[in-house]
Amino acid sequence: MSTSDYPRPSSERIAELRENLEAIRAKINVVVSSAGLGDKKPNLVAVSKIKSAEDVMACYEDGQLHFGENYVQELIEKAEKLPQEIKWHFIGALQSNKCKPLASIPNLYAVETLDSIKKADVFQKSLPDARSIPLRVFIQINTSSEESKSGLPPVSSTSSGSEAVELAKHIVQKCPALHLEGLMTIGSIEASTTQDENEDFDRLRDSRDNMEKTLREAGLLEGWGQDGKLQLSMGMSADFENAIMQGSDSVRVGSSIFGARPKKQ
Ligand SMILES: *Cc1c(COP(=O)(O)O)cnc(C)c1O
Repeated sequence: MSTSDYPRPSSERIAELRENLEAIRAKINVVVSSAGLGDKKPNLVAVSKIKSAEDVMACYEDGQLHFGENYVQELIEKAEKLPQEIKWHFIGALQSNKCKPLASIPNLYAVETLDSIKKADVFQKSLPDARSIPLRVFIQINTSSEESKSGLPPVSSTSSGSEAVELAKHIVQKCPALHLEGLMTIGSIEASTTQDENEDFDRLRDSRDNMEKTLREAGLLEGWGQDGKLQLSMGMSADFENAIMQGSDSVRVGSSIFGARPKKQ
């Protein structure tokens, strides 16, 4: 496919998206420097669910490589139309029967919502041999314990046998096609709009520290890369700045870049 075959929006829309993207990048830079994070700049995942392939292309041409999607069919269709260099993150509710079609997307970069050994096994079985890099996975943690949210319970300092730790061990020991990248949470939006600090983000960080300690003691993080650190995916349009202050390595920003979304039925 030549570059002229890719879908593109109107020049007005291109200008609007670039402006929004620049504004988010600038805000990230401000937080990074005011928090003294130095070169530890978090990754920006642009969440393009329900938005067009044209919109994604405009951001890609402004240097954005990481995109997040919530719906498997929509992701498959966009991935077919858009450049292979795009790094897709699946961030939606994950069903076992959708792991196989997801695994077939050649440039699927990460699945951020893994929550069971069963689903890890489906990915391990169905990822094509031709993939040159392992699929990065984040284990989703339900830090706000809201029934409406998916994810496993947080990892306490004593819960070495917690579900999330068991899943992490399984990934590291039994799933060579996967790479345990870290933990992901959505957290309480309520807390983020009413308080400066969201304790759910602290909960995710504590879960990560506790999990790392258990895995390290079991000798499972040697040669892990990233200095043996597990990453934190947390922070969305409403709270990404606080999330960065609280240690986020990867923020998922949608509506502030692409505009409000219509309700999906
Ligand atoms: C939709 C979504 C986002 C982006 O939310 P915005 O508020 O639009 O930035 C981030 N993470 C997850 C898991 C989502 O479903």
